[in-house]
Amino acid sequence: MPDQYAVIGNPVAHSKSPQIHAEFARQTGQNLTYERLLAPTDAFMEAARAFRARGGLGLNVTLPFKGEAFRLATLLSERARAAQAVNTLKFEGDTIFGDNTDGAGLVNDLARNLGCAITGRRVLLLGAGGAARGVIKPLLEQQPARLVLANRTFGKAQLLAQNFGGGLQAGTYAALAGGQFDLIVNATSASLAGELPPLPPGVFAPGALAYDMMYGRDETPFLAFARGEGAAALADGLGMLVEQAAESFFIWRGLHPDTAQVLKLLRQAPT
Ligand code: NDP
Repeated sequence: MPDQYAVIGNPVAHSKSPQIHAEFARQTGQNLTYERLLAPTDAFMEAARAFRARGGLGLNVTLPFKGEAFRLATLLSERARAAQAVNTLKFEGDTIFGDNTDGAGLVNDLARNLGCAITGRRVLLLGAGGAARGVIKPLLEQQPARLVLANRTFGKAQLLAQNFGGGLQAGTYAALAGGQFDLIVNATSASLAGELPPLPPGVFAPGALAYDMMYGRDETPFLAFARGEGAAALADGLGMLVEQAAESFFIWRGLHPDTAQVLKLLRQAPT
């Protein structure tokens, strides 16, 4: 019997995770299956427990269940605790281990695939939802010159700045006027709705990288704005998706797959 893994979410039909993990398993010679699990929005816990009961060894967790997965875990990594969100569950005996690999996925994509240094750079993070929370600690660990977080609902940004201590500064979008950043990461869901976060002009420093966590065939409004503002490089979140999957794969199987090869395959595949 192959070992069983899955991605659980709602919706989940669009997820590229089964394709990514199938390729990781092929590369590393692992005997496993990886399926999509659509859970009713009010029955995540039941669906996750049923998967475990039929022998499942691990789950990737996507929208809108990362908070519930955090509560389901009986043992948490430090980065999951900091994010208060879990995207990777590992079932081992009586233990349900919860981790968050989103931040490592972003940092590894920036470093390995995009050649973008974070240390000593001015970094702006947009959004204060699950995705933003997951990347704050890993970004701070890279010791940027400054890390500013702007959010439409300012109170949420303020709360995060309090929780993460001195390293993170909270700001409103309006207060960004006049500032410049070397890396701007869009971790809002604005792109999903075809919207642009209300960024003032002039925030991209010369040589800046604009990074949208969203991925897809079309350029997002944020990346189109960044292009118009003269950002030196643009990137979508496909690399982050592959890198966070590789971190999950390592947690489950103890092996590091070749992410560059999988990213190349996905870029070539029609969406
Ligand atoms: P959440 O729903 O938890 O958070 C959404 C955030 O976006 C909030 O901060 C919200 O602000 C803000 N927002 C929404 N619309 C707008 C707008 N029009 N203008 C400004 N801000 C806006 O979502 P997640 O954090 O889970 O996900 C965010 C994005 O990251 C999604 O596009 C998701 O697909 C992507 N993602 C990509 C991953 C990858 O591997 N590439 C991994 C995880 C997420 P407010 O607080 O004011 O409501």
